[in-house]
Amino acid sequence: MAKEKVFGICKLCLQNNELRDSHYIPKRAYSMSMAKSLPNSNPVVLSQGQVKQVSDQLRGHTFCGDCEQMLSDRGEKWVLANIPDDQGEPFPLQEALLPENPVYIGDGINLYAGRKIPAFNMEKLIYFGMSMFWRGAVRQWKTSFGGIAPPVDLGESYEPIRKFLLGGPFPEDVVIFVLIHNLKPAINTATTVLRAKDGLASFYWFYLHGLGFKLYLGKEVPKAIRRLCSYRSSEGFIIMDREFGKMVHEFMRDFLTANELSPKMKEFIKGPDPRKKPPGK
Ligand SMILES: [Zn+2]
Repeated sequence: MAKEKVFGICKLCLQNNELRDSHYIPKRAYSMSMAKSLPNSNPVVLSQGQVKQVSDQLRGHTFCGDCEQMLSDRGEKWVLANIPDDQGEPFPLQEALLPENPVYIGDGINLYAGRKIPAFNMEKLIYFGMSMFWRGAVRQWKTSFGGIAPPVDLGESYEPIRKFLLGGPFPEDVVIFVLIHNLKPAINTATTVLRAKDGLASFYWFYLHGLGFKLYLGKEVPKAIRRLCSYRSSEGFIIMDREFGKMVHEFMRDFLTANELSPKMKEFIKGPDPRKKPPGK
């Protein structure tokens, strides 16, 4: 039986059009994990106050076909081709950083000049990151059995980010970080957009198979953070940050019970293999 067509206002172009059954977390990453039946690769979602991995996707009629295509062409497709398909599979972006000299080495943090590394398409990475944060805010994302993704509030930045995704300028008062997981292999999971706070400011973040993004909003974002922005910095900073890796690990460890983790994942969360050196060291 053919699915009934759904019409409405597309959240991105704001035109009345036929709407696709859009996914919050990129569809290909999800269907790949489903195809291989890897329960550990399912996105993490907040359900009745608890964060769980879900085996069905967060979806809903949200964007028209043209906008879906644009989101894919301008970011998602390239990003999915450059992150691992599965735990331990090749991770082209992490591999590309290994022979590079960081432009800055701090305590547990390495900065690389993304715009000088041919393997990094900064435009696509930034577009993808921005699109995911914004997707988190366009609607309440639900699974078919009632799981609800944590809400995302972009405040005054919502509309400038929508315009950016349609080809407008990068919004004022928005700072984005592109991060590559510091351990090899990178933990293979996907999160929805989540809120967190560090010593300097609060931010949103998400993680997708080794690739992470942070988003800081507002005029109060400290200068120290602004100058590291992957978009604004002339180098196009790519960040390998031990603390970010730790945050992803702690998130997985704290919110998933042992029987929800595959043996591979359990072993990984216990800690890195001391025989394997972390990249970038
Ligand atoms: Zn549209």
